[in-house]
Amino acid sequence: MKSLLKQHFGYDEFRPLQEEIINDVLNKKDCFVLMPTGGGKSLCYQLPALKFEGLTLVVSPLISLMQDQVDSLQANGISAEFMNSSLSPSQLIHTQRRVQAGEVKLLYVAPERLALDSFQSYLQDVNISSIAIDEAHCISEWGHDFRPDYNNLQTLKTRFPGVPIIALTATATPKVQKDIIKQLHLESPKTYVSSFQRKNLELSVLNKKNTYDKLLNILERYKDESSIIYCFSRKETEAVAAQLQADGHSALPYHAGLESKKRRNHQNQFLKDQVNIMVATVAFGMGIDKPDVRLVVHYSYPKSLEGYYQEIGRAGRDGLKSECILFFSHADTRKHQFFSDQIRNEAERLREEEKWRGVIQYAETHSCRTKHILKYFGETLSADCGHCDMCLQEKVLFDATDITKKILSCIIRTGNSFGAAHVIAVLRGSKNKKILSLGHDRLTVYALVNEYSADEIKHLITSLIAKKLIAKKTGKYPTLFVSSTGNDFLKNNEKIELQKPVTEKEVYSNKSTSDLEYDRGLFEQLRILRRHIAEANNVPPFVIFGDVSLQQMAYYFPDDVEKFGQISGVGAQKLEKFGERFLYCITQYAQENNCQSKEMPRVRKTVARVSGINTPGSNYQKTKEMVMAKMSLADMAQSHGFTPGTIVTHIEKLLDHDNSLDIAYLESNIKDLPLIQEAFEACGNTALRPVHDYLKQKYSYDEIKVARLFAR
Ligand code: ADP
Ligand code: ZN
Repeated sequence: MKSLLKQHFGYDEFRPLQEEIINDVLNKKDCFVLMPTGGGKSLCYQLPALKFEGLTLVVSPLISLMQDQVDSLQANGISAEFMNSSLSPSQLIHTQRRVQAGEVKLLYVAPERLALDSFQSYLQDVNISSIAIDEAHCISEWGHDFRPDYNNLQTLKTRFPGVPIIALTATATPKVQKDIIKQLHLESPKTYVSSFQRKNLELSVLNKKNTYDKLLNILERYKDESSIIYCFSRKETEAVAAQLQADGHSALPYHAGLESKKRRNHQNQFLKDQVNIMVATVAFGMGIDKPDVRLVVHYSYPKSLEGYYQEIGRAGRDGLKSECILFFSHADTRKHQFFSDQIRNEAERLREEEKWRGVIQYAETHSCRTKHILKYFGETLSADCGHCDMCLQEKVLFDATDITKKILSCIIRTGNSFGAAHVIAVLRGSKNKKILSLGHDRLTVYALVNEYSADEIKHLITSLIAKKLIAKKTGKYPTLFVSSTGNDFLKNNEKIELQKPVTEKEVYSNKSTSDLEYDRGLFEQLRILRRHIAEANNVPPFVIFGDVSLQQMAYYFPDDVEKFGQISGVGAQKLEKFGERFLYCITQYAQENNCQSKEMPRVRKTVARVSGINTPGSNYQKTKEMVMAKMSLADMAQSHGFTPGTIVTHIEKLLDHDNSLDIAYLESNIKDLPLIQEAFEACGNTALRPVHDYLKQKYSYDEIKVARLFAR
């Protein structure tokens, strides 16, 4: 199975649970899989699909995701198709025929199609080996995203007895899990629940002050990478996007108020790496599946931790380190309060308030953020994550006896009935209206503290709440009071040590987003190459190669096909289709910058094999047969699904092996052959770029490459 994994997907190791699930599916058992976004659910049915004799039917709710999944599979040389309303009737018929002929391994369909009588009777004639149901929580009315169309899936089990069903989701409470299993009539399914910890996400919270400057500083570290900035309102997205554009960033707004064509266009540009930053409301994210989002910033704090976890879940789906930053300010609470106040139903209103208070607690915690958020979802981590802002903070303790006494006294003197902001204002000697009208400027605690900033006192108060010296009354206006522990502390003249309030210095430090110290310059060039190839093939860039692959290339500098095949994400098909162009880019860069290829660690022993030139049935042999049949370059390219350039590469390799292959018939197709031949002579070598430049870029690389066949 591991060799299938490398050969088809280019990966060396399975992610947690994948292997077990795949085994179960292959043994025709029903499975229920609950894994976080980016956990690698798709592979759990895609890999078995390759081994099964018949078809794997995949039910998926979002048309845009189907397209991406099918593109990705096809780029890996796996025969996958989809059927949905975006296809023309003739395309549909074509796909149906291919499925019936057994030429398709994976077929993606929307749930509403399953309800059509015509489609059902069509499926009766198809050999179905397994059925995968993506976003399975959509079948449950208990879930947060119920879709009536999913009811069509209830009868699958009776219609296809003996065919294993695998249900997958990234979000389901225990109640929803049970409901999914019941609705789908899964037969004693194996249930797999993986941890919801996303180890590659680095969480932090920053004070929402000088916010835009901080944002600019952060973005400095993410030049040429993909970021999402979530804003509270449509207006805010427009304003921030415009400001970023004015500061030279490639940013676009996205919200439900934009005209749908424009919205799609902005989303597409982001997907295709033509724009780096999406400044969006939470309307953005559903139905996009970009694996290389490196940064998610919340410009205002979100409505609930559930929402927050889902939104930051869009970062780092490829498993590479990614950052999630929340800008927090109590001032934003007013906005949330305002919206909660509009809710008539009391119980519902309280539930809403409870939710955003959960976010405040997250923002104010002084311990591991990852642990905090997972605990909220009912999962207990045995250790701190080690890479959130709290874990990374220097923990310096100081003798806080004096300041603690001052804070507690102030709370008591003001009657144990005010919030933190007021207590701080009194301690710092503010002359605001409230203080003056209450006469709090005449208290002995007034203006008692000048060695700490308001933020620092806030930080200390939060620590004292955690230590239970201060308690919080819940309710509309959470007020502070000194607990019995706090009173004992004062009475007994105890000593206390607290953590020193820290400044937000990390924001400005230079963090690397990867464990590999890869070459940034080469990485950039590889990204450009990837984008060109993606544009030519009309797919998003990540379908060609993910960032993990590019970073490894920019670290190891593979200089031959075999080494290139060891890079993660390089399977046989991609090696054959793109290997040469990427190798060319890498070796060229290595020469110009004097870089050496590095040995790869031994564990990467599984190597995608290019089928040899003489392997019967290989692409080379197919090309050879077509050349012998005197087909034109364009026809060969079309029949293979490759670019003409790749066909020429095949021919060059074939000629290296066997000079007798007759290609003379291709000569007449070449425009200005003598001119290009001359250019090759003038440049004195067989590299393409010098010739391309010499000819003032009048001819495409493909044209020059064909001509090179005759220049040799
Ligand atoms: P999910 O559907 O659970 O959100 P995906 O199936 O889309 O996750 O996988 C997320 C990313 O992880 C994809 O880019 C996928 O190619 C990659 N991936 C999946 N399995 C592996 C693996 N065993 N090794 C490396 N990368 C993997
Ligand atoms: Zn942590």
